[in-house]
Amino acid sequence: MNPKARKQFGQHWLNSEKALNRIVAAANLQPSDRLLEIGPGTGILTRRLLPDVESVVAVEIDRDLCELLVKKLGNIDNFLLLQGDFLTLDLNPLLAPFPQFQNPNKVVANIPYNITGPILEKLLGTIAQPAVPAFDLIVLLVQKEVAERLYASPGSKAFGALSVRVQYVAECEFICDVPAKAFSPPPKVDSAVVRLHPRRVEPPANDPQKLETFVRLGFASKRKMLRNNLKSLIDRDRLTHLLEQLNINPQVRAEDISVQQWVALTNEL
Ligand code: SAH
Repeated sequence: MNPKARKQFGQHWLNSEKALNRIVAAANLQPSDRLLEIGPGTGILTRRLLPDVESVVAVEIDRDLCELLVKKLGNIDNFLLLQGDFLTLDLNPLLAPFPQFQNPNKVVANIPYNITGPILEKLLGTIAQPAVPAFDLIVLLVQKEVAERLYASPGSKAFGALSVRVQYVAECEFICDVPAKAFSPPPKVDSAVVRLHPRRVEPPANDPQKLETFVRLGFASKRKMLRNNLKSLIDRDRLTHLLEQLNINPQVRAEDISVQQWVALTNEL
């Protein structure tokens, strides 16, 4: 029997073998992998990961669940459980006494949807400050609407500021859909598994801080043309001229510009 799910912690227990198989396969587990899991819950995913890797360190905020996890998985050598809020936890010093768990190279997790944005930022960093060292691979079960934004192509409705911010620091792939009924209790929304490969875009932005500001303002009003959204930062005629130079239609909206074009544009300024 699963414990009663707590809403404030975004708890929804995954109970689909099919979804678990897809998550595990997407992680392409290697015997040398050291995994980080956020929100192990009842340990259903954790159990699947442990036999195939060097170690799994899991961070769980819910004390009662931690007790349960210790009972279930506490005697497994390559499992370490940390109780706390992943967002505020400083992993490095906590892992210092445990060499087998230091510097996890992959993240595999069914995360609490209410803090997806901050989790992504902690795992990937930002345009101005990408996370160092970067993970080799990150496999996450997220809300479908967020998943769509992560792997969106320019020109599609889902392509927004989040797409540019994340795609600047990572390649994003869709793995599979996971229907709400795969969870108990079912969340109000459908879900999807995504896989992120942190990497640097080439060429990088000369001034990442500036790129961040341009992206934020460029998407401020989605229906407006880019040059109108950016008019407080750059003269309209100058921007028109620059866009033409880069072979971009001067009437574009922010959502039509690829990450590479965003970089090219801010590098010219
Ligand atoms: N992985 C499990 C549970 C997913 S539900 C499964 O697939 O069934 C999300 C989990 O994240 C819950 O266990 C919840 O308690 C935990 N959680 C919520 N907020 C957290 C935070 N800030 N830090 C760490 N864990 C958190």
